[in-house]
Amino acid sequence: MHSFVYTALPSKVLFGFGTLDKVADEVRLLDCRRALVLSTPPQTAQAEDLAARLGQLCVGTFTQATMHTPVAVTEKALEVVRERQADCTVALGGGSTTGLGKAIALRTDLPQIVVPTTYAGSEATPILGETDLGRKTTQRTLKVLPEVIVYDVDLTLALPTALSVTSGMNAIAHAVEALYSPDANPLISLLAMEGIAALARALPTVVSQPVDRDARSDALYGAWACGVCLGSVGMALHHKLCHVLGGTFDLPHAETHTVVLPHAVAYNEPAAAEALRPLACTLGASTAADGLSDLARRLGAPVALKDLGMPPEGIERAAELAVASPYPNPRPLEREAIRALLDDAFHGRRPRQNAKTALESAHA
Ligand code: NAD
Repeated sequence: MHSFVYTALPSKVLFGFGTLDKVADEVRLLDCRRALVLSTPPQTAQAEDLAARLGQLCVGTFTQATMHTPVAVTEKALEVVRERQADCTVALGGGSTTGLGKAIALRTDLPQIVVPTTYAGSEATPILGETDLGRKTTQRTLKVLPEVIVYDVDLTLALPTALSVTSGMNAIAHAVEALYSPDANPLISLLAMEGIAALARALPTVVSQPVDRDARSDALYGAWACGVCLGSVGMALHHKLCHVLGGTFDLPHAETHTVVLPHAVAYNEPAAAEALRPLACTLGASTAADGLSDLARRLGAPVALKDLGMPPEGIERAAELAVASPYPNPRPLEREAIRALLDDAFHGRRPRQNAKTALESAHA
C-alpha cells in the first residue's frame, strides 16, 4: 500500500425514491424554518411543487439560476434572501442551480439542501465556479459544501436522454481523473471504480428505456460516487481543458466533458497505466481511452468539438491556455501533443493510441 492522505467531507446524503417528501424534515433538522427554493427557469414548476410541499417552512422561490453561476444572478438572489429573511436554501436542479446555492452560502453562510436532478455531482463538492464580466474563477472552500443532499431517483426519470448521457459522461470524468490524481487514495479509487461501473452499466438502459427505475437509480448512485471523487481529490488535464474550452468559447459544460474525456485519457494513459488498467477492464476494452470512446459512441453522445460551436482557430488558443500555468498531471504538459489531442477532439476522430493495451502492459 502506498502512503496516502484521506479527508472525509462532512455532508449528509439521503438516497432513494420519493425522498422529496423528506426535504421538510431536513429543513427542520437544520433548525431552519424559512427555506428559499432555487431552480433554473425550465424547472420552475418543480420548484413550486417543492415549495408547496414545504408549506409554512418555505418563504418563496428564486427560479433564475444560470449556467456557470454569474455573479449578477447571485446578487439578485441575495436580494430575495434578504427580503424574505431566508434561513436556508433548497436547490432543486443540476449543477447550475447547485452553483447558485453555493454562491449564496459563500456570502451568507446559509445552510444548503440540494436535490440534484442531473448527474453533474456538484452537490458533493466544496467547489464553486463563478463567472463575472466573462471570466470564470473556481474556488474550493468548505463554506460552499452543501450540508444535505436529497437524491430522489423519481426526479431523474424525465431527464432528457441526451442530457442524461452527457451528464453521465461528465460524472465519469470526475472519477477517471480521481484514479490518477496526485491525491489518489484507496477509498476514493474504490468509489471511482464503483461510480464508473454503475454509470457504464446504467446509461445504455437509460438510453433505450429512459424510465427504467433500476437503471435511473444506478445512474444517480454512480453520479453521487463520482461527485464525491471530484470533491475529494484534485483533477488534472481533462478538467483543465474543459474549463478552458467552456470559459473561452462558451461551450456547453457536460457535452464538452463528453467529447474531451477519451482524448485526455489517451494522452495520460502511458503515464498512468497502472491506475487506468481497472478502468479498461471494467469497460471491456484494451485501453481506458478506447473503452470511454466506445461507450460514448454506443450512447450516441456528441464526439466533436466543432459540433458544439468551437471555432477551428480556437485549437491553437486552447492548447496555449492549457499549458500556460503548470498544474499536476500524470504526463508532462506538451503543447504540441495537446494541440494534436484538441485537433482530434475538434474533428471527432477516435483518440490516438498513446498507450500499450491493458493486456500488453499487464505482460510487460
Ligand atoms: P444544468 O444544471 O445547467 O442543467 C441543464 C438544463 O437541464 C437546465 O435547463 C435544467 O433546468 C435542465 N434540467 C436539469 N435537470 C432536469 C431534469 N431532471 N429534467 C428536465 N430538465 C432538467 O446542467 P449540469 O450539467 O447539471 O450543470 C452544469 C453546471 O454545473 C456548470 O456550470 C458546471 O460548471 C457546474 N458544475 C460544477 C461542479 C462543482 O463541483 N462545482 C461540478 C459539476 C458541474
